[in-house]
This record gives sequence, C-alpha cells and structure tokens, in this order.
Amino acid sequence: MSLHPLIGHSHASQRLAEAVRTDRLPQVMVISGPAGVGKQRLALWLGQLVLCTEKGPEPCGRCRPCRLVENLGHPDLHWLVPIPRPKAADPDKAVDEAALAIAEVLDERRARPLYGPPDGMASHSMASVRLLQRRAALTSVEGGRRVFIIGEADRLVPQESSQEAANALLKLLEEPPAGSLFLLTTVDARRLLPTIRSRAVPVRLNRLTDDEVRGFLARELDAQTPEALDDRVALAGGSIGAALAAGDEAGKAYRAAGQLLEAVMAGSAERYERALKQAPYSARGEFTAMLDALAETLGEATRGGLGQALRRPVPAALKRADAGALLQAMERVAEAREAAYGNVNPQILLAVLGEELAEVL
Ligand SMILES: [Zn+2]
Repeated sequence: MSLHPLIGHSHASQRLAEAVRTDRLPQVMVISGPAGVGKQRLALWLGQLVLCTEKGPEPCGRCRPCRLVENLGHPDLHWLVPIPRPKAADPDKAVDEAALAIAEVLDERRARPLYGPPDGMASHSMASVRLLQRRAALTSVEGGRRVFIIGEADRLVPQESSQEAANALLKLLEEPPAGSLFLLTTVDARRLLPTIRSRAVPVRLNRLTDDEVRGFLARELDAQTPEALDDRVALAGGSIGAALAAGDEAGKAYRAAGQLLEAVMAGSAERYERALKQAPYSARGEFTAMLDALAETLGEATRGGLGQALRRPVPAALKRADAGALLQAMERVAEAREAAYGNVNPQILLAVLGEELAEVL
C-alpha cells in the first residue's frame, strides 16, 4: 500500500514548491500545527518533491524516487518517529535497537498509512539522535538530496540524559551537511528548545476545512450514512487524526479529561477519588494521552471564553473560568506532561495536578 494523498494545505505546499523551484528552500524547517492535520504527510510530500526527477510543482508520482518514497523505501529519505526508550546500556547497541524499533514502526505505516498517535511514552532518546547523526554522516545513496524527517520533534525527552540528545541534534541543525534537508514536525513549536527553533524556518499549518475532512473520510472509510459522516466531521475539528480516532482511544482520553475537570471543579473528595482510580504505571501511555486531551480541552474552553466557536464540547463548569485562569491551568498540565516522562507515579502526579488546577480554576 502506498501513502494516501496529501489533503489540504495547498497554500503551504505551493509556497514550498515555489521555494524548491527557485532553489530557496531552507535546509531546516519546523512544520507545526494541530494534531492529525498531516504535518508529517506534508514533510513526506516535500521530501518526495525534492527527490522527484521531474522537477514539477508537485511530485510526479511515477519516477523511481517518487515510487520509492511512496513505499517509504527511499534510501535517502530518513523518517524518525518516537519509539520506546531502548533498553540496551551499551550506546552502540542502543542505536541498533532504535533503528530496529523505527523500522518496525515504518513497516506498520507502510501496511497501514493511516496511523494513530504514538504511545504517550514513545520519545526520541539519545539513541535515536545518534542514529540520526550516523545517517547524516553518510553520503547520498542515489546521488541526490537527503531528507531527514523528525516526527513529533517535541518528544526529544526533556530530561537530564537527553539534554545531550537535544544538543547533539542542535549541532547537526547548526551545520546541516550539504544537500540535506531537515524537517521537524510538532503540534507546538514552543515545545521545542528555543535553540532548535531559532535555527529552523517555521511552516505553520492550520486545521483542515470540514469539506477536506469529509472528502477524505468519504474516500478512505467504508460506506457511511451521511449522518454518521457529519457526526464524524463535527467531532474531528479539522483534524483527520481526530476523525479517525473519534470513538476509540482519543474519545476515551477526552472523556477521562472531562471527568477529571468535573471532579476538580466539584471539590477535593471527588478529586482524590478520581486520582486514585488512575491505573498505575502500566497504563502510562493512556495517562499522557489523557493529559494531552486535558490541555486541548482547556484550550478549547479558552477559545470559547473569547467568543470563538467551540470545536469540542467543554465541561459546563469550565465555561465559567476566565482566560487567565485557563492559561495557568494549561501551564500546570504542561508541567505534569513533562514530569510524566520521568519515573513519577501517575497517581501522585494526578493528585498534585488536581490540587493545582483547583487552585487556579
Ligand atoms: Zn517523481
């Protein structure tokens, strides 16, 4: 199976194609935008465009490099995705382990091009960055450009051990090898180290339009009634990822986040009850997904407070909170999200977060 077509983002893709045509494409870019709108898909599109032999305004889809990219098999296109932290203590073995884990994820994406978000605990560890360094040091296999895509680049683990990972990546981005192109993607460029951000040209993507999401769903999913399709488009909020996840994992995370917010607004007894219900360590990915949904819900409430149309339901109690309080609450959630990468017990983290949210909201 090959990649699904690029959906939407015509403004961004035209600008990028123009930069390629006039040989003004920056070597390092950060593609940011909401989850599930196709940031990595756009990066692949751009990679395909620079590797395509036809040099047109979009990848021709027929030449050998195009076909290799579509099968995620181009030897000069390297796609780094977050993976569970390698277990090997020996640095070289850890790099091999990372390479294997990334290859497995890409195998899955080749088989199922419409993938969901990675596990909440998956990250770019030092081993992944070493792997990137190793590959960046090689010469081009096909003799053309080389493309490095770092998906969810904000998952460079913000811990002591990975300050090193961030610095190693920084060195690479400061002086990218000739002919190389680095495309980092993230939901929020502010989550990247300022030093990394300052070396990259930003490309911001917006949510897709409802029509774009509808067109995609109608084509990719099995026959649905128009009503079911409308429901799904409404839930998606301009994100194909959200449309695909509606009803399963993401839905679960949003429900859990909504329950937590309601418990926080209700008072401490309920809060502790909710915190203690949080499944222990083994469900860490679920826990971080809930924190992401929590941040998104608070953001939605902020937009609602500013009179903008809501894309998702917001718990009734939150609608009374003011924007300043909501922003503080989002900061607390972001801190908890970082702490969740460490060895902190989710139950304790959630109890503390509940207290903090109750204080600010
Ligand atoms: Zn081509």
